[in-house]
Formats: sequence, C-alpha cells, structure tokens
Amino acid sequence: MPIYEFRCPQCSVFEETHAMASVPDTVSCPNCNSPSRRRISAPRLSIAGSAAFKLVDSPKRSAHAPEVVSSLPAPGRRKVQAYTANPLHKKLPRP
Ligand SMILES: [Zn+2]
Repeated sequence: MPIYEFRCPQCSVFEETHAMASVPDTVSCPNCNSPSRRRISAPRLSIAGSAAFKLVDSPKRSAHAPEVVSSLPAPGRRKVQAYTANPLHKKLPRP
C-alpha cells in the first residue's frame, strides 16, 4: 500500500498508508484532529522493495488480499527460513 503525505495547517506533515482506490483528499490530523489535505510528493521508490517496507506493509496487505493456500502444512515439517546466504555467517556462534 502506498504512503501518502498530508499537511496539517496547525502542526506539520504526517504520513498515512491508504489503498490507491480509496485514498481520501482530506484526513484528520493525529495530533490536533484538524482537517489536513493530501500533499503531492515525490515517490520514494528506493524503500519499496526493502525488507523493512515489506514488514510494515504485510499486515495491511494481508487484510485486503490474504494469501490463499490449497492445503494444510505437513505436520512436523517446518520450513526453515534462510536468513543469509553468506557462507561466512555459518561460522558465527549460535545462541
Ligand atoms: Zn495537526
């Protein structure tokens, strides 16, 4: 979901995420609750693919488009997530 900037006439600029189909022109400020208009700003495409952006975006995205599975996961078999592909990290001490 894209991040939109809004300018409060009393406070400052703040950001909110909205679906592109339902982004409002005016929202209320989280600090003073006054109506704030949407601000035109440059897209920040550099953070769109980052791990931090995906982590923040995944709960809201799953609320709109949950992942569909065709079967239950096999009992006793858990997929181990590879955190790094660097072979030097295997030499690091484990907790
Ligand atoms: Zn405000």
